[in-house]
Amino acid sequence: MTESSLTPIIKSRGAVFLDRDGTIIKEVNYLSRIQDVKLLPQAADAITRLNRQQIPVILVSNQSGIARGKFTESFVTKTHLYLQKILAREGAYLDDFFFCPHHPEAGNAPYRKICDCRKPAPGLLLEAASRHHLDLSKSYVIGDKLIDVELALRVSGKGILVETGHGKSEKEKIVESKINPNFIAVDLYAAINWVLEELRRGRKIAENSV
Ligand SMILES: [Zn+2]
Repeated sequence: MTESSLTPIIKSRGAVFLDRDGTIIKEVNYLSRIQDVKLLPQAADAITRLNRQQIPVILVSNQSGIARGKFTESFVTKTHLYLQKILAREGAYLDDFFFCPHHPEAGNAPYRKICDCRKPAPGLLLEAASRHHLDLSKSYVIGDKLIDVELALRVSGKGILVETGHGKSEKEKIVESKINPNFIAVDLYAAINWVLEELRRGRKIAENSV
């Protein structure tokens, strides 16, 4: 047996990256109390559909409230554990969580800095890709802000804007910003529906070309 045949083949796959506030849970300005974590309608169902197909679902979130001194990193971690718990009640789970605690102008060091992880900078996605062996060009980012769409486009993935949270007002900035979502969905469920349809179409094309 040659050495190369012993090396495990890691097939790069895509993931679905989800913004948190206004996308999975209700947008409240700088969420700082666990009891304010409320799932948006059908968000858990939508995530379950990805779970069933073994598509990694990864949360990516800007949490500049840390830099601004509104809450701590450990609070954000606690929030994510709680989110995982309420998703589990509905049979859904997130595969991983990444967040940026920084802000370029607010607060003090070490959180006040120009970092490479504040969306739309791709740092969080690159970290996730390396940890989970992901192909970002086969991945999707779903969020209620155009920075989520821009993030996807920066890594050659696809970006979907949801109209929950800040989505409706962000939609009005599309022309001016020239950041064009691949799809605009009323909510996370509709967004994931579009992703699954697209993947199905992709598979059909692959089958037909054999
Ligand atoms: Zn950062």
